[in-house]
Parts: sequence; C-alpha cells; structure tokens
Amino acid sequence: MRTEKTDLKNLSPSELEEFIASFGKERYRSIQILRWLYQRGVHSFDEMTNLSKKFRQALERISFISTLHPLMVEESRDGTKKLLFQLEDGNLIESVLIPDKKRLTLCLSTQVGCAMGCRFCLTGKKGLKRNLTTAEIVNQILAVRETLPDKTSITNIVLMGMGEPLANYQNTLKAIELMAHPEAFKFSSRRVTLSTVGLIPELEQLAREKVRFRLAISLNASDEATRSRLMPINRRHPLKKLLELCRNFPLQPRARITFEYVLLEGENDSPQDAKRLLTLLRGIPSKVNLIPFNEASGIPFKKPSEERVRQFQDILM
Ligand code: SF4
Repeated sequence: MRTEKTDLKNLSPSELEEFIASFGKERYRSIQILRWLYQRGVHSFDEMTNLSKKFRQALERISFISTLHPLMVEESRDGTKKLLFQLEDGNLIESVLIPDKKRLTLCLSTQVGCAMGCRFCLTGKKGLKRNLTTAEIVNQILAVRETLPDKTSITNIVLMGMGEPLANYQNTLKAIELMAHPEAFKFSSRRVTLSTVGLIPELEQLAREKVRFRLAISLNASDEATRSRLMPINRRHPLKKLLELCRNFPLQPRARITFEYVLLEGENDSPQDAKRLLTLLRGIPSKVNLIPFNEASGIPFKKPSEERVRQFQDILM
C-alpha cells in the first residue's frame, strides 16, 4: 500500500544515499536519483532511464514519488502569483511567486496554519493544523517550476509563507539541504532565506548546522511590551535575548541578518520606534526590511500613511 511506502522526497541527500545502499547499490545511484527528482522533476520511476528496469521495479515496491499540482493560481496586477495547493489529506497551503527586476522569488509554506498567533496575521488567527513534510515543502518548488515558461527560473527561495519554519525544524532543514545540494536544486546559500519569529533554542541549534542560508527575523517592534502585544511568542522568547543571540550568530563572510518590520499605524511606526530600533540593532551585521501593513478584514490594524513610512525610513537611513 502507498501509505507504507517511503516518499523519496521526504529523504535528505544522506538519507537517500542510505536508502539506496540498502539495495546494495553504489552512492552514485542516489546522485542519479537526486538529479531525476529535483533537476529533471520526473513524476515516475519509469522516467529514470539510466537505472535498470529491475532496480526501478525494486524501488517502486517500497517507495513512491509524491507530486503537488496547483488547485488555483491567482495573479495580481504587479505580476505576483499566488498558488493554492491541496494536500493529500485535503488541507490547503499557499506559495507565492514574486517577480522583481531580475529576480523571481518563491515564498514557501512550511506548516498548515501556524501556532505563533502574531496579531497582524490572518494565518496566525486560524492556529496550527500540522507540519508539512519535507516532500510537501520541496514539491511546492517543483510544482511552481512546472508552471513557468521555458528558460525562466526561480532565482530565490524564502521560507516566509504559512507557518513558522523553525517550529517544523527537521523537515524544514531537510528541505533546505535539498535546496542547497549541488545534485538537487543547487540554490546558492545567498539565495535561500529562512524567516523566523525567533525561537531561541531552535536558533541556537541552527547556528551549529552545516547547511548555510540567509536568516531573517520577524521583529516588528522596538520594545518588549509592544512586541509581546503584537507577537505573543515574545513572552517566551524576549527581544533582548533574541538580539543577543543575533549578535553572536555565526554568519558567512559579508552576510547580514534581515530584520523584517511590519509598520502598523499608531502601534510601532513612531520616530521614537525608529530611533530605538537603531539602538537595538547596533553591532549586528543587519539590514531592515520595512513592510507597510497590508490591510485585511478581521485584522484590527491600519497601514501607516506614506509620509509616516518615509519618516521612519529616513531615520533608519
Ligand atoms: Fe503569521 Fe508568520 Fe506569525 Fe505564523 S509566524 S502567525 S505565519 S506572521
């Protein structure tokens, strides 16, 4: 039965190697399979023509290749595409493709829903349903790639969609390993960004991982009280401790941490907030991504005026 079989896309490159070794096969066979799955994007074992028929049949007896297909694609005027996927259990997730000059960035989901409860976020209001598997994370890339015209490539990946990636640590890390692996997706470490609310134990663990990528922290406030009000997770993982950790986080040469700051009218957008933010980030190789709030029904916040956004930005500059 399919449910008892191993989804090959749930395996990290080293796990796939072990899996293939259990058939008595050499390491290069796992490399061939990585290329078929992630570079060629095949959907079946029959397409893996450089593997013997006997080996493909043996693989098919105990494993399978999962796929995702978009249920709906919604394109906005600026060219941003939202893709809705239905998972095997009926749950829905979203990926967003964002064109910007020479870049084509894909924003991926890592969970169905989210437990973090940020007050300015619709996903946060619905709570967490479950973690995505590694296969469900990487299948978003493969499915979106199939919708692109020839010679168009996704240039950047951001783990910033539905869910908190570090709350789904193992599956997210395996997906990032596949993104970075030279025989799989081959994304350079500068082109993959993981965005987190700042779960401290997981960030400490992340600092010890070999796989490299860019780190973004969803900050959204310049003091503990405001951050706890906007992001309840701040009560367990306070700003002060988080920034101390960021100050000591092992970054690659010339890399910087991105601090995301959603500007909410009257909440966190004052000149005092901007000045406090500057002081907080002193000594951390960083940049700030200011995001004027995108108003949505059911969320009790407003977008600040352009004047207010510019004033905030000028102080930071
Ligand atoms: Fe929303 Fe991200 Fe906060 Fe989760 S962590 S509630 S997805 S903003």
